[in-house]
Amino acid sequence: MEKNSEIDWENLGFNYIKTDYRYISVWKDGKWDDGKLVTDNMLTISEASTALHYGQQVFEGLKAYRRKDGKIQLFRPDENAKRMNNSNSRLLMPEVPVEKFIDACMQVVKANEHFVPPYGTGATLYLRPFIIGVGDNIGVKPASEYIFSVFCIPVGPYFKGGMKPVNFMIADYDRAAPKGTGAAKVGGNYAASLHPHEIAVKKGFADCIYLDPSTHSKIEEVGAANFFGITSKNEFITPVSESILPSITKYSLMHIAKEYLGMNVFERDVYVNKLDEFIEAGACGTAAVVTPIGGIEFNGILHIFYSEKKVGPITKKLYDTLCGIQFGDIKAPKGWIFEVK
Ligand SMILES: *Cc1c(COP(=O)(O)O)cnc(C)c1O
Repeated sequence: MEKNSEIDWENLGFNYIKTDYRYISVWKDGKWDDGKLVTDNMLTISEASTALHYGQQVFEGLKAYRRKDGKIQLFRPDENAKRMNNSNSRLLMPEVPVEKFIDACMQVVKANEHFVPPYGTGATLYLRPFIIGVGDNIGVKPASEYIFSVFCIPVGPYFKGGMKPVNFMIADYDRAAPKGTGAAKVGGNYAASLHPHEIAVKKGFADCIYLDPSTHSKIEEVGAANFFGITSKNEFITPVSESILPSITKYSLMHIAKEYLGMNVFERDVYVNKLDEFIEAGACGTAAVVTPIGGIEFNGILHIFYSEKKVGPITKKLYDTLCGIQFGDIKAPKGWIFEVK
């Protein structure tokens, strides 16, 4: 492995860093080209691109992990590929074959191998695949051309110095409509979330929680992460709704809760006025893996779950098991790990 002495692995955050190579493939005349690695991190696109005007764009997020033996692995990239295609189909964008998506990720990791943080730092290489509608196209209709790209940045562990619970408030806004694009990983949902996020941060919360957009009585998303709660009856509960973005971390935790920790797992409604059914709660997603929820403010009252200071034991066990699998220290379920060769 080529050394990278310019990076302070211990103090990485979640910031853009220009790495050496990114993958670019272009869709034109009904098909994708072979794709290639390029060094230029700038895109030149038509001013009339649908991605710029009508939000015709999708993205993904996943990580490459350095194992103890120095090898590098991806965690469930096939699931990201499938989810991106679900997002693509919602926005009338062309499908990317699963093999092409995984190959693009592998190429980017290999070409930027010296940016993959060392084992033991908790840091990882974050991959950002995306597709944008481009070409000369001012009418409201799908683009004539598309760019599929994957770039990467080394990122630090979300919680420096260990996991800590954080507090959330219930948002006064929706991030998605009941039958809108909530289940698609598209920039438009994020545009809608910037304002409520800023309000929550100004009030001293980590982020806001979105309720279901039809009745505003059930928890849907915790910022840009999924919600889970643990009951005193050894249950792992997570909300179900067609406007929730299906988190791969969430489905992985459901499997771990059941198969590794022997819990009962349910996807069902989580009512914001019945939070006392949970003894622990958390948010989950690729970036932070698991964020313990200290408390949730609703109607002016802060509901505390396990503690505002300490991480609950089951939340900790879920986190440790998933991280152990992702870094190759714990045996993974079949098909979850893709070694980068
Ligand atoms: C990406 C994302 C998540 C987390 O999904 P993972 O696959 O676990 O990273 C959750 N909610 C939203 C809105 C997202 O965009």
